[in-house]
Amino acid sequence: MSDTLLSSLDLIEPGDLVIYTGSIPSLHGLWLAIPCPCRICEAIDAFGLPDTRFALGDPWGQRPGPHHVRRESITRSIACT
Ligand SMILES: [Zn+2]
Repeated sequence: MSDTLLSSLDLIEPGDLVIYTGSIPSLHGLWLAIPCPCRICEAIDAFGLPDTRFALGDPWGQRPGPHHVRRESITRSIACT
């Protein structure tokens, strides 16, 4: 199946609640997703590469979340409809 088709069916908008299931098990759970604001990801974006990374923020602002999170590592939460 095409990755492009798959992601277009499940777009993540900035500020969406997502479930992180990536490579850091201690951070698995509910986060707010925003486009990763770091300069590396910004540069990748400027090249037009379809490799969007996300930064995850605590919805309660209590702890820093992971950065450069791959799209495949997060699932849009069904809580945000
Ligand atoms: Zn980044």
